[in-house]
Amino acid sequence: MTITTHSPQETVDAAVKLGKLLKAGDMIAFRGGLGAGKTTFTRGLAIGLGLGDNVSSPTFALVNEYRGDEINLYHFDMYRIETEDDLESTGFYDYDFEDNVAVIEWSENISAFLPKDTIYITINSVGENDREIIIEDGDRFAAAWD
Ligand code: ADP
Ligand code: MG
Repeated sequence: MTITTHSPQETVDAAVKLGKLLKAGDMIAFRGGLGAGKTTFTRGLAIGLGLGDNVSSPTFALVNEYRGDEINLYHFDMYRIETEDDLESTGFYDYDFEDNVAVIEWSENISAFLPKDTIYITINSVGENDREIIIEDGDRFAAAWD
């Protein structure tokens, strides 16, 4: 599924829609460079999951956690991760992914360690305010987009 957005707000809106469809155990891996809109999209996911909009880049923390009553959102930034040892040192393997939702920025850096059923979202900048957002979800969400 490919969506084109024309403003940050449209990206948030699309992500809210997706966030409402996410379930415990879902892992989203972003592909796309600096300024693509990964953090903006994650803000929408958090809203859709009912966790508010207070989402910022976890570049320095490596992971931000947004907690809810039913579900938490773990928001990783793998920009500086190069090896599996690095990954382990973020505490990545200690998170309860089964009962929560995780999103990963710079997932390119840990592609070898992602689960098979990972949902990939590629964001391409196609103009100053235009973004092509490709969601590889095995057609799980397509029906909700009609
Ligand atoms: P990333 O996390 O991929 O580095 P951010 O979400 O932090 O990207 O930043 C995206 C930047 O692109 C923001 O400055 C935002 O205002 C801008 N932008 C412009 N158009 C869009 C759009 N359609 N969707 C998302 N962001 C957009
Ligand atoms: Mg970011």
